[in-house]
Amino acid sequence: MAEETQPPRAPPSSLDVVSSTTQPSSNDHATSTNPNPTSNEEDMPVQEKRHIVILGAGVIGMTIAHVLSTRHPSSFKITIVARDQPEDVTQAFASPWAGANWSPFGNGDEKTYKRESITFNKFWNMERTGLTVNMPSRIYYNTEVDIKRIWYKDLVRNFRVLSKDEIPAGYGGGVIFDTITVNPQKYLPWMKNELLSRGVEFVRRQIHNIDEAADIAGPTGILFNCTGLGARSLVGIEDEKVHPIRGQTITVHAPEVQECISLPITPNAEGIATYMIPRPIPDGLVYIGGTYQKNNWNTSVDFNTAKRIWEKAIEFQPALKTDKTRVVSHNVGLRPAREGGPRIELEWLKYPTVSEYLHGNATGKPPRRYPIIHCYGFGGFGYQGSWGSAEEAVDLLEQL
Ligand SMILES: Cc1cc2nc3c(=O)[nH]c(=O)nc-3n(C[C@H](O)[C@H](O)[C@H](O)COP(=O)(O)OP(=O)(O)OC[C@H]3O[C@@H](n4cnc5c(N)ncnc54)[C@H](O)[C@@H]3O)c2cc1C
Repeated sequence: MAEETQPPRAPPSSLDVVSSTTQPSSNDHATSTNPNPTSNEEDMPVQEKRHIVILGAGVIGMTIAHVLSTRHPSSFKITIVARDQPEDVTQAFASPWAGANWSPFGNGDEKTYKRESITFNKFWNMERTGLTVNMPSRIYYNTEVDIKRIWYKDLVRNFRVLSKDEIPAGYGGGVIFDTITVNPQKYLPWMKNELLSRGVEFVRRQIHNIDEAADIAGPTGILFNCTGLGARSLVGIEDEKVHPIRGQTITVHAPEVQECISLPITPNAEGIATYMIPRPIPDGLVYIGGTYQKNNWNTSVDFNTAKRIWEKAIEFQPALKTDKTRVVSHNVGLRPAREGGPRIELEWLKYPTVSEYLHGNATGKPPRRYPIIHCYGFGGFGYQGSWGSAEEAVDLLEQL
């Protein structure tokens, strides 16, 4: 979907490093060995590999595992622990429900631009695999386009501002450019298979207290927290800035639609955000959105809303109105957003967890500190920032 504000783009900066929120003190019982992951990787005996546990098997957790196993093919034992696995199509996580196209939001910052630029280039080059497809995308705005404020114009291909006679009545401006789209329900299982072939292990398990993940990682282990909305209710993390943005959508078979279209979000409680995204595999599917409803946890389909979504979609894409169009499914997914934006940050946590929601140290195990790298809160742009965010998170690991 489109947003009104298009912030100016400053010159590209080096990869932004997010500082640790808590440094371990010298008498911490944390890791005593320096991971020094870049040294003597090939010679490292298997039993000495540090264990990295990635909590979460959505697009973020798996992309981190991919970047990590690419940069350090034999340094670490990597386990992905998640309640929902990539092949699941459950509403308990966001990744199966994304559009997912690369369509920049307004109100970004240099970190976001960097993450999304890296991801755009990565996805663009994946087209030959069939997992992504490059196609035109049209975005309409309420106001006229200020070209100086469109940071991505030199990144995407064939960018141009739409002329007045190309703008629908009631809108002030628009742009068109070639971008990429992904089919999450193909991309996620592909990514899992790729990681399995690299020796990454997947464990299906719900974690209630972050200590459980620390136990799996062991005394010298390192955690990545990629739990999306789960970061709100995971004891020991309890991030109250995390909240859902409800997205109701319709999947249709409409092979004649070969262009993404995106409109601004209506400024009312209904939160209709009209967009349509043709999918790469299988041919002919189009994902039609949708809603953008903050703090709405309802995962049931509302058919009145579905009717509104459909009426808006056919207004902007007459090709949907033919007899060949067939509804495949009505969907609801929750975007895992966070006030203030995504959290990509290294933190040293105390073990065992001290929380007002727990009583005492029930584990009886000696206290220590251990590193956790958070990477969650991506709202409606987790795919389009996935590769850049994963690079940033792995950079943090390398600074340990
Ligand atoms: C309708 C809709 C449209 C969207 N469109 C786009 C788009 O066009 N482009 C785009 O870039 N993005 C889009 N998004 C957003 C995108 O889907 C998300 O930003 C992204 O999927 C977030 O990925 P994630 O890995 O952070 O979280 P998730 O996919 O939610 O994964 C979280 C993982 O953590 C696990 N987990 C959580 N808590 C626990 C626990 N306690 N114990 C064990 N495991 C746990 C879950 O099981 C899951 O494996 C859209 C989302 C929706 C809903």
